[in-house]
Amino acid sequence: MSIEKLQPFLAPSYENFPKGRTIGVVVLRTTQSETIFRTEGTGEPMCSEYVQAGVQNTESISRLVMTKRKQVAPERRKGREFLRSHELLYTAPKSDSICALNTNAPCEMCIDCFLYGFAAGGEGAQKSRVWTEDAFSVLPSTELIGDRTINAIFETGTMRDEKGNASTALNTSEYIKPGVHFLDIVTLKDVTADELRYALGNILLTSRYGAVSSRVGRMENQILGIFGGIAELPSSLELVQGVYDKLAADGKALEHPFKTEPLIAAAKSVIATWTNKRGISMQLSADELDALIADVDRNWSLNEQETFLKRLDRSYASLRKVKSEGKKKGRDQQQEE
Ligand SMILES: [Zn+2]
Repeated sequence: MSIEKLQPFLAPSYENFPKGRTIGVVVLRTTQSETIFRTEGTGEPMCSEYVQAGVQNTESISRLVMTKRKQVAPERRKGREFLRSHELLYTAPKSDSICALNTNAPCEMCIDCFLYGFAAGGEGAQKSRVWTEDAFSVLPSTELIGDRTINAIFETGTMRDEKGNASTALNTSEYIKPGVHFLDIVTLKDVTADELRYALGNILLTSRYGAVSSRVGRMENQILGIFGGIAELPSSLELVQGVYDKLAADGKALEHPFKTEPLIAAAKSVIATWTNKRGISMQLSADELDALIADVDRNWSLNEQETFLKRLDRSYASLRKVKSEGKKKGRDQQQEE
């Protein structure tokens, strides 16, 4: 069982204080359709950044950026769909309504709150133990963006108004092409085995990113490597730069569409050298990684999902009790004053 191999870097149970146990996950995110990482109609430009092309190749190129928020929000929502269906989201004490994202009233008791954190106004906070960073495209953004001029649609959702007149208002719409690769590093800090399964499941089960209302934004996530150590992996920028150098050295034409297979091979050869770096103790072998993904799939399967999620949920039971007792005490004291 490969999860056993990660044991030195996993917490036996949830604790309030960090102990430096770090799991690093290398994720390849590939767009499967046109994708837009911004709110539609706001006129925001596509998110990109000028950075060095490679570690050795010092030329500047513009890379597409998938921001932290664009990654983690859909992944949390995915997990919460299942928590909701098994009634594992709790009522937020402040609002008296069920735990919700992006409100000021998290329940502070569900798996999502414990793992991804929350900031409750005044009442204290839980730091997220799932750390993401901006993911970069491997190729220059100039290769990866499509541009289309469309007739603005009417409220009826069609190109014609009630009188049958065609729309003349034009909108320009920029999109990320299908088949674009982003490389990404996710860091999990002091997580338990079940929390690791939960976080990986969220990454593997999420297939839509970006502008939620649109029919676009299909994305496939693959886990290329898992590491254990006492420090974070190199950054996702260093990873894409390493891969860029490797592909260039192999004489590959760096143009879109780029095949996924050679890209995975290049990424795996770059990350294989990381175990020599400071603070990184071990990488799961290819077989161990497959076994871990199979373990995650099994726990999330229809048959085992409920048992798995309820077990993880129960692991926080004693902490919830401490919390509510603490609160009661606080209230009593206030009454005495
Ligand atoms: Zn919650």
